[in-house]
Formats: sequence, C-alpha cells, structure tokens
Amino acid sequence: MSRDSVLIIGAGLAGMKAGLLLANAGKKVYLVEKLPLIGGMAIKDEESFPNFECSTCMVAPVQQDVLQNPHIETMTLSTVETVEGSVGEFKVNIKKGARYVSMTDCIGCGMCYEPCPVSINNEWEEDLGEMKAIYVPTAGSLPNVPTIDPQHCTRLNGSDECNACAEACMFGAIKLDDKDEELVIEVGAIVIATGSSTYDVSSLETLGYGSFPGVFSPLEFERLFASNGPTEGEMTIRDTESVPSKIAIVHCVGRKEVGYCSSVCCMYSLKFAHFLKHKIPDAVVTNIHSDICVHDKTYQKFYEGINGVDTEMRFCSSMADVCVSGNGSGLKVNYPDGKGKEQAVEVDMVILAAAIVPTEGTAALAGILGIELDGFGFIRSLSENIGSIETSREGIFVAGSAEGPKDIQTSVIQAEAAAGKVMALLSAMPEPVAAESETGE
Ligand SMILES: Cc1cc2nc3c(=O)[nH]c(=O)nc-3n(C[C@H](O)[C@H](O)[C@H](O)COP(=O)(O)OP(=O)(O)OC[C@H]3O[C@@H](n4cnc5c(N)ncnc54)[C@H](O)[C@@H]3O)c2cc1C
Repeated sequence: MSRDSVLIIGAGLAGMKAGLLLANAGKKVYLVEKLPLIGGMAIKDEESFPNFECSTCMVAPVQQDVLQNPHIETMTLSTVETVEGSVGEFKVNIKKGARYVSMTDCIGCGMCYEPCPVSINNEWEEDLGEMKAIYVPTAGSLPNVPTIDPQHCTRLNGSDECNACAEACMFGAIKLDDKDEELVIEVGAIVIATGSSTYDVSSLETLGYGSFPGVFSPLEFERLFASNGPTEGEMTIRDTESVPSKIAIVHCVGRKEVGYCSSVCCMYSLKFAHFLKHKIPDAVVTNIHSDICVHDKTYQKFYEGINGVDTEMRFCSSMADVCVSGNGSGLKVNYPDGKGKEQAVEVDMVILAAAIVPTEGTAALAGILGIELDGFGFIRSLSENIGSIETSREGIFVAGSAEGPKDIQTSVIQAEAAAGKVMALLSAMPEPVAAESETGE
C-alpha cells in the first residue's frame, strides 16, 4: 500500500537519518541517491566542527545501518523523473543508472581497478586526484562496489574491445551489458534531502582561483586534508611539492552575490585554521573576516578556543573588496580595514570560504515535484507559517541543507522532524476502502 511507503531523495546525513527512523517505525523506505555512494557532503570532511569528531567514524555506522536495513531500498545512481498523484498515493518514476558491476557478486576487493587502462580526473575528489574508468569515488565508499563510467570506459563507449576489468574479476561481477532501468514506485509521502553545494569561487576573478595554484576552494581543502583523500592527507600546494607556511582564509566568498549569510562557513573556516595549525605547527594562519557567525550555543566555546590560538582574526570592512594577487609562488591578499587603510597579508596558500548555495538540479527537481523554491533557489519550506519542514505541496517535506545552509546537527534534527511529520500524516489517513466483490461480500 502506498501509504506504508515513503520516498526519500538524497542519501546524505539528513536523508539517511530520516530513512532509518521511518524504516524502524515499519515504513518501506525508497532512498534515491544520484551518486554511486551514500553519505553526502559530510563524508568529504576529515573531522567535523564543533567537536572535531572523525567524520567517517560518525557517518559510517549510519551508512551501514541504512544499507543493512531490510525496510530500506537504497537506489544509487538514481534520479526521480516524474511524480504523479497526491498525498497518500504518489506514483513516482525513477531512473536507475547502470553500475555495470553486480551489487551481489562484487566483494569489493578492488582487483579490477589496476588493469583498467583509462585514467580520468576524480570529480568527487574535487579533481585533485585521478581514478580509473572503473572506480569507487573515494577509499571507504559505501556501498563498496565500483561503478564503470560509460563515457570514459573504452569498451562501453565503443572505442576498444577492452575486457581488462572483467578478466581481473574472479567473481564474475563485471556486467558490461548492464542497462539503465525505469522503475515505478508508489509512496504516501516524499522527503527531499538533496543537500547543498558551495558557491563557484572561480566566478570571482579578483580572488585568483584558477590563476594561482595556491588558491583553494573549501571542498578542495577538505579533501587535501583528509587522510582518505587524494594526497592521503599530505598538505601540499597543487602542482608543487611545497607545504604551506602562511595561509589566509578569506570569509564570506560569494555572500554579496547570493545575498545571505551561509552561517556554517565561519565555523568551517575556524575548523580549517585548527586543522592547519595541528598539521603544520609552525604555520601562520590568518582569517580575514567581517561578521563572525556563531549561531549555536556550543559554537562560542569553539570560536574562543581557536581565535588567537590557531589563527589571527583580521577585520575587513568589505569582503567584496578583497583581492588576491600573486607572483611566482607568493600570494598577497589585500583588504580594506575599515579605518580608511588598505591592509595586505603575504601568504603561500589562500582558502576561499565560499557561501553555501542550492545544489545543482534543485530547480528541475522542484519542477518535477510541483513545489516552490524560495527567493534564493533553495526548497521553500513553510517556516514563516510555523511549518518548518513542510513544502508548498501536501505530503512533500524537506530536510537538511536542501532547505538552506545548515550544520550537520540542524540537518539531522530537521530530518527527524520530517520523519515525524510523515508518520503523523500517514497514520492519520483513512484506510483505503476495499473494492466490493461482485457478490457484495
Ligand atoms: C566545506 C564544508 C565544511 C563543512 N563542515 C562541517 C562541519 O565540520 N560540521 C558541521 O556540522 N557541518 C559542516 N558542514 C555542513 C554540512 O556539510 C551539512 O550540514 C550537511 O552535509 C547537510 O546534510 P544533508 O544531508 O542535508 O546534505 P548533503 O550532505 O549535501 O547530502 C545530500 C545528498 O543528496 C544527493 N542528491 C543531490 N541531488 C540529488 C537528486 N536530484 N537526486 C538524488 N540525490 C541527490 C547528494 O548527492 C548527496 O548525497 C560543512 C559544509 C561545507 C561546505
């Protein structure tokens, strides 16, 4: 029955947590994730603020619970194509992409990677590393089953008769004739948990991203720092072997353009300062900021523990006027100090603390679901009417950073609220009337 089933779109922490609650309450959960792995943005972090908890240790048990839960059907490489019907009886078409590797036969031994002759940039690793055409996005990916990229695999794109991965697999798990599938499911309610993305720092030319190898986006920095990342946590400046000694973290990148404070970027900037100081104790770290957003009761202590200890905080009166220039490996960050003076700091690495923006495809998904976006392009919740996680369409809820910039804790709280709303809604719906038999019995 459709009212015993729920669709969750997006398998980050918000989607997984909502899914587990609903599954444990007896609902059948369809968890649709567009990537080949689950876990969302949190698995890109080595450690999380405010407690510097190991992110993998925090997320991996949740991923395992999801994958092992008999009431949760996790569909990776999948997207929602159409939605018909209404609350209690949504009919959803899902496109499930071919993985070309059997989820049941593969044991995750990784013997298939080495013989693959194709090397391509690893997008999940922010292009800081390479991967083969048969790959898992990162060490520790769950499910630990590789995927073949059909565009780059010479066998699948028709440019060669290569069979190297299939020959290397002792378990017959490579399925080169795998095909995309179209599935139809019926659900009573839908939770959107598609997360967010970061502002494209290359669009602000004055900040030097793309011109100077020492300028990094925040997600690049996360992967550079991560022990399961492309450099195994070795902190060197791209295209060089050099370890940075003077680092500037520039706050509020894109804030003026997006028109709102993203709230979590001050905290992740301080986290980065702490990471740097602990990995490179002699490093001098400078945070260039205007406002400091310390929006949770535990964050004041976190801020005070880092300010003046791991980093110097320098006030800038207009973040939009920050300019990064360079010569050779040296970088200079110029900024106005609000006292009528232009200040400069000389560094060898700059991290651009980018604003949080709606994830790619949010508008298209909202169109498919028939729901409204807010003025910034996030999924609109009815929060102004104390509805918080309800969207503009009955039976469709939103949780986590798909609704706006959020930290992990708030994302999970919203996910649990969404699960509660779904349970309350579906349990209050009347039992469907059984069709009368021809004899009237
Ligand atoms: C650089 C950086 C560092 C951060 N560090 C911290 C920290 O230390 N502590 C902290 O509390 N917070 C931190 N955050 C915030 C944290 O990442 C978010 O709060 C958290 O990831 C939100 O979880 P979520 O599940 O809502 O979204 P996500 O984690 O973004 O998950 C969304 C999932 O949905 C999938 N998806 C997207 N679109 C679709 C679609 N159309 N169909 C199917 N699936 C889709 C995505 O692939 C993804 O798996 C940081 C953020 C950034 C940018």
